[in-house]
Amino acid sequence: MHINCMKTSPMGIYSYKNKNTICLPLKKYALNSLYMRKLVTFFLAFICAEVLGDIGVNMNYEGANAIINKIDGNSVWIKPDFRDTSTRWFYWSIELTKTAGKKVSVYFENDDFLGNQGPAYSFDGGRTWNWLGAKSFVRHNKDNPSTYFTQEIPKDVDSVRYCFSIPYTLDDFKKFAAKFENNPNFKINKLATTLRGNENFSLSIGNKNVPIKLVMLARQHCCEASASYLLEGILAEVMSDSPEAKFLRENTEMFVVPFADLDGVRAGDQGKNRRPHDHNRDYLENPVYPSVKAIMERYSSFPSGSKIIGIDFHCPGRLESESYFYYSSKEFVAENTKKLSQILERLAKDATDAMPFTSKYDVIFGERRNNKINSSFRHYTALMDNTYIGTTFEFAYADSYGVVFTPERGRNFGKLFAHAICEYVRGIKDK
Ligand SMILES: [Zn+2]
Repeated sequence: MHINCMKTSPMGIYSYKNKNTICLPLKKYALNSLYMRKLVTFFLAFICAEVLGDIGVNMNYEGANAIINKIDGNSVWIKPDFRDTSTRWFYWSIELTKTAGKKVSVYFENDDFLGNQGPAYSFDGGRTWNWLGAKSFVRHNKDNPSTYFTQEIPKDVDSVRYCFSIPYTLDDFKKFAAKFENNPNFKINKLATTLRGNENFSLSIGNKNVPIKLVMLARQHCCEASASYLLEGILAEVMSDSPEAKFLRENTEMFVVPFADLDGVRAGDQGKNRRPHDHNRDYLENPVYPSVKAIMERYSSFPSGSKIIGIDFHCPGRLESESYFYYSSKEFVAENTKKLSQILERLAKDATDAMPFTSKYDVIFGERRNNKINSSFRHYTALMDNTYIGTTFEFAYADSYGVVFTPERGRNFGKLFAHAICEYVRGIKDK
């Protein structure tokens, strides 16, 4: 696992001593009580700093990503580590240590790598997360050289983890999947051995003897974690006892890849615009990534007469607050995607405590970034005669229409998404 930080001990702890020194002419001020008080205060501060030490940084966990430029007192200056990404991107994740009772600050010099809700933070080593909030930070602009945020850390919190968005790791998926350990309807199969030697996997759910095939992917761009909560919500609903779940398990065969770029998820890479190209530009005759090759082999193995629904879950730009579908260049596929989008919009209207959705930001072919055929999954699906829906769904990272993203609202939106797929499938099942 490649982790680039300035200096790492065997335990992954980086610490930088404050070099401030005391230099006061003691004799001159010995009889002056004001100076004495200042001297005593300064001396006590020095003793405290020596006893408690400056904050440290831990980069020894899955998903960590930052280049540490400086640590001074309770402040740290960092920037994202782009690694093999060819363009400026914005994923970062860092754990500060020795934080109990301190007011800590994180600075990004001359740049901005925060979303709409500021950073996500965790006081329990990444188990639970919250956003620091839309008013918690100062953005880099002409008056402020740095983007930065500050947080008062409770006395009993020894370390705090920060991330660009709320992460979703392999461990999160394992916790979810453990609920279905002995369930024959939830099969975990080997997908491929990745370039870095990870064993990637796919899920097989439903009925393999029916023509409707539901292919769902996430994390082709590994940093796009909010989309994983949506996918988990779909899977949770599909595995439930609801009428929609039973219908979907009986009438579709599901092939699901939760981490298309598993290497990047584990290492905390950006994943977007990797050199020579990223996973979602790898749908070529000779794919670079074994996981993509395996996805293509599976997709193309569905027999003629199949009706395939292929959905690739992503997150949009750093500051985008809309979730939306990309429509295919192929009219039949675009029309079917639009149908699904409109069902989802209708279901989302009455939902409570789920992320909201409207189809009005969907991107038809020829508009915005959907203006040319490329080697993405979406365009790959359009090459297949039996594709009904082949789409990218962009799920906003941090908020939508004033509703702040939480894992629970992401999962609840996934439940709606599963119901929308169910309604769409009912419409094509007997045609
Ligand atoms: Zn993406």
